[in-house]
Amino acid sequence: MTDKPMIRGNICLNSNGEGCKAAVRQQIALVKTAFAGDAADAGEGRPRLALIIGCSTGYGLASRIAAGFGYGTATVGVSFEKAPTESRSGTPGFYNNEEYDDRAREAGLVSITLDGDAFSDEMKTRVIAAAKDAATAAAKAGGKVAPQYDLVIYSLASPVRTDPVTGVMYRSVIKPIGKPFSGRTFDLVSGAISEVAVQPATDDEIAATVKVMGGEDWERWMDMLDNAGALADNARTAAYTYIGPASSWDIYRNGTIGRAKEDLERAAFAINRKWVGTGKRAWVSVNKAVVTRASAVIPVIPLYISALFKVMKARGIHEGCIEQIIRLYRDRLWTADAALDSAKVPVDTEGRIRLDDLEMRDDVQRETDAALLRITQDNLETEADVAGFRHDFLEAHGFV
Ligand code: NAD
Repeated sequence: MTDKPMIRGNICLNSNGEGCKAAVRQQIALVKTAFAGDAADAGEGRPRLALIIGCSTGYGLASRIAAGFGYGTATVGVSFEKAPTESRSGTPGFYNNEEYDDRAREAGLVSITLDGDAFSDEMKTRVIAAAKDAATAAAKAGGKVAPQYDLVIYSLASPVRTDPVTGVMYRSVIKPIGKPFSGRTFDLVSGAISEVAVQPATDDEIAATVKVMGGEDWERWMDMLDNAGALADNARTAAYTYIGPASSWDIYRNGTIGRAKEDLERAAFAINRKWVGTGKRAWVSVNKAVVTRASAVIPVIPLYISALFKVMKARGIHEGCIEQIIRLYRDRLWTADAALDSAKVPVDTEGRIRLDDLEMRDDVQRETDAALLRITQDNLETEADVAGFRHDFLEAHGFV
């Protein structure tokens, strides 16, 4: 264990377990406060057994904490993390999982955490079995949980995926399509702004990114769970996406990752088509930009997020992962109306849940754009909330 972060190229190579655990406890406390007034009616329609795919950090971790400590939901979490060794700290998600399991046990909540490759069929089979284990554990504790998932959150961010059918490994890239991209970013440690140039992706790279970060695996999860009878009749599933401002589209929305996210939306339609006439439903949820291990390495995004944070904090509408997911559950998926009727979940014209509504507000975007134009090396720390970005990044690795 170490108390000094080792950061290279906006990637943190180590973590501090105690700090990670403290951050999990902080999120639990926030959820308890947010849901305190709801306790009396947090019954009908709310999830009883949730599966969180990508449960250990960022949006997935927040999704697990909000379900468990908000609704008392039993959770099965899947993630790919590394335990510490003699010479290296574990990955942050390893400690987060440990803390979630400990605090859940203490609170009498069922919690099963599975470590391994979510893209594999083997993991899907383990998760099907885990539904029964969760039901058994709940019964032992005097509760009643059916061995079927009624909520599945799909929150993976991964650089690679091995296709379970062909065994071929695909690698995702963050590149523009059709033309080169150049944009500014800054180094988290030195604060130095630099210009990053990225060449356009090849067709193979585009296809590979869609394979990894697109919707094929989400569909496979839903098929396998459904065929095994592991989904409740009223099961709800959401996969997370990002759209962001036009200034980032050349590298994000119109780039390789955007193609993959388009495919995620295709998958939502495909899943819902299969579920017509059932009570099950799938959504893509458009979440806001936050600092996670995944977002710090995308060109332009750190500068944009820092400028955005300053604007949103000044307006009192700043949110991190946990605030977003509290809103997803309380104001979208399980409002009083939507809890019993999934057609009442508020969505946009494309059928997507929007949690990026505050980020995308005209005044917020106008001011963020203006700040981005004003930012120079000399005024970076005052024009943008670089301190806030750095804080969240360090916190995600346990160094706050
Ligand atoms: P993250 O890196 O914090 O979390 C990724 C999770 O996926 C971790 O739990 C990790 O263990 C797990 N994972 C990765 N590969 C795996 C594998 N092969 N098997 C099992 N688990 C695996 O990422 P995040 O930023 O929370 O992103 C989650 C989702 O939210 C992504 O789809 C992302 O595009 C979306 N999103 C992120 C932002 C943002 O600003 N960070 C904004 C909107 C949407």
